[in-house]
Amino acid sequence: ESRRTRSRQITFYNPRLGRLAQTRITLQKELAGAIARDELRLVFQPILAGCGEVEGFEALLRWHNAELGEVSPAEFIPVAEETGLILELGRWVFGQAAAALAHLRRTHGSKLFMSINISAAQFSDVHLADQLSAAAVAADVPTDAIELEITETVLMHDTGESELQIQRLRGLGFRLSVDDFGTGYSSLAYLRRFLVDKLKVDRSFVAGLEVDRSSIDIVRAIVSLAASLNLPVVAEGVETRAQLDLLRGIGCDQFQGFFLGRPSSLAALDEQRAARPGNASEAIDAL
Ligand code: C2E
Ligand code: MG
Ligand code: MG
Ligand code: MG
Repeated sequence: ESRRTRSRQITFYNPRLGRLAQTRITLQKELAGAIARDELRLVFQPILAGCGEVEGFEALLRWHNAELGEVSPAEFIPVAEETGLILELGRWVFGQAAAALAHLRRTHGSKLFMSINISAAQFSDVHLADQLSAAAVAADVPTDAIELEITETVLMHDTGESELQIQRLRGLGFRLSVDDFGTGYSSLAYLRRFLVDKLKVDRSFVAGLEVDRSSIDIVRAIVSLAASLNLPVVAEGVETRAQLDLLRGIGCDQFQGFFLGRPSSLAALDEQRAARPGNASEAIDAL
């Protein structure tokens, strides 16, 4: 009896790890068929100017699977990266987002931009720039209406190639923004080396604004760094009026967050638009 218990303990050593690995395998397997089964969709979150005007949207991926339910991108994007599936997902996302932008520019506002997240594996693909520009042409949207969001860590890998990739993308007209700024190796030196068009302050600093002094100091430092490089700053994760007021006071240029607008489907954006002709978004009232 005691031997059995012991052997069982050995067999099921660290069952939690086993379950995690199992989940990962299931995720990988299910994700591989997600596009074919039509389980993916994009939602769009508005990005506003200080005056309240909606200037663009960030495309965010959603996955609903029969077995797993709704899976967060924070969970499945890393898995897609590991398996290389991100290249296919990324192409799908870009095509859908570009088509949505074409629609939004026709019906909501002709100057709207679309911000699209680009993962590390996509960024290191030498064919990325040509592929994206072909997809933009196919969707009939100008490349300069598309912002590609990359993170600092993406830039830190293998710098020679990153510089080239940035040149190719910007040469074709795409804008580049640095997502989650402040959480990586943010430095003046790398921002001078890698020419980008915008910084997005990570939402952890926005969340800290009303809680700790250091978050205010960090956002101030980012805004002044950006100003010295002539780059606009977006604050993400704005959840309260107080945060918005602080961020405007500090000098951020654009704002994104649940207080201003939740990510929503294209159909929902169309409905909102129809319900309030002449007004780009409900968010305007909040400002
Ligand atoms: P991210 O690019 O930093 O996107 C912003 C995330 O913050 C989104 O989470 C958004 O829903 C959330 N958010 C926006 N406003 C607020 C707010 O006021 N409060 C809080 N608490 N959260 C807010 P989401 O959609 O779950 O995406 C998580 C991450 O997954 C993204 O972070 C991005 O890194 C990645 N991701 C999402 N879609 C894609 C995609 O199409 N491609 C790639 N490569 N990554 C994606
Ligand atoms: Mg982003
Ligand atoms: Mg991101
Ligand atoms: Mg972010």
